[in-house]
Amino acid sequence: QAKNMGADATLVFGAQMRRERLKRVQLEADLRHAIARQQLVLHYQSKVCLDTGKVMGYEALVRWMHPVRGMIPPMEFIPYAEECGLIIAIGEWTLHEALRQLMEWRTSGFVTPDVTIAVNLSTRQFNDVALADKVANALSLQQAPASCLTLEVTESAMIGDLAHAKNVLDGLRAIGISLDLDDFGTGYSSLSYLHRLPFQALKIDRSFTRHLEQSHESRAIARSILQLGKSLNLAVIAEGIENEAQRVWLVRLGCRLGQGFLYSKPLSAAALKIAGLDDVRSA
Ligand code: C2E
Ligand code: MG
Ligand code: MG
Ligand code: MG
Repeated sequence: QAKNMGADATLVFGAQMRRERLKRVQLEADLRHAIARQQLVLHYQSKVCLDTGKVMGYEALVRWMHPVRGMIPPMEFIPYAEECGLIIAIGEWTLHEALRQLMEWRTSGFVTPDVTIAVNLSTRQFNDVALADKVANALSLQQAPASCLTLEVTESAMIGDLAHAKNVLDGLRAIGISLDLDDFGTGYSSLSYLHRLPFQALKIDRSFTRHLEQSHESRAIARSILQLGKSLNLAVIAEGIENEAQRVWLVRLGCRLGQGFLYSKPLSAAALKIAGLDDVRSA
């Protein structure tokens, strides 16, 4: 009896695995057309000054509007895209679209010229030898100054060959763009190497912000990152600020910049415009 159940379980498991694989193959095939069918969209989350609430810039975050499955968050398709190489095309689209949007906002007066746009880079893009050329191309095509662009790189994208990472980052920096180290504290940055990499800012990962109120350890880590920023002359941006208590803790620890649901969820360009109008009305 037990043996039979085992066999059944194997069958069920096998069927489930096949279904999963099929779903995945289908998703990959769909993703191949996502750009051409204009199913990718960017949402934008403001980065603000914690003292004044002033918006310093926006982070562009990609979403896939799947015709059947609805909105798919990046964590559910970026890893696929990484594996099959589609991330290169998606990354280029994201870069162009984010710059295009920023320039449209500038032209319409929605943002002042000091407002910046940040785009996330994946590991595979980071290892693309043509990356710096592509970034320079995107800037000139969208007629955007390099000073308005920040690329966010995670520690894991740089894993392994730090000399290579330094070359890539130096090449990007030479264009005049800014570089932020994303999700700082969750990866394996070599602290001894950090000062040789041309970053302008460290982003405190959401996992530390989340527990600031309850966890003495999270506060200690946030404090250390802020100290590190100070000694290496890097800005520090806290991500995932959801409530006032977290904001207060961060300000008390000396953090000046942040982003999170307390200020705004990532919003489509259309939703941002409406939110902006509401602000004007209520002011
Ligand atoms: P990330 O760059 O660290 O982005 C922050 C993530 O935290 C975003 O999730 C954002 O929506 C979410 N978030 C922001 N504030 C809060 C908050 O207060 N509370 C909570 N719970 N969450 C908050 P999202 O948009 O799902 O993106 C997840 C990750 O996907 C990003 O992490 C980034 O690594 C990656 N990603 C997003 N867009 C792109 C892209 O265009 N290219 C690449 N390569 N990766 C992307
Ligand atoms: Mg990011
Ligand atoms: Mg992050
Ligand atoms: Mg993150």
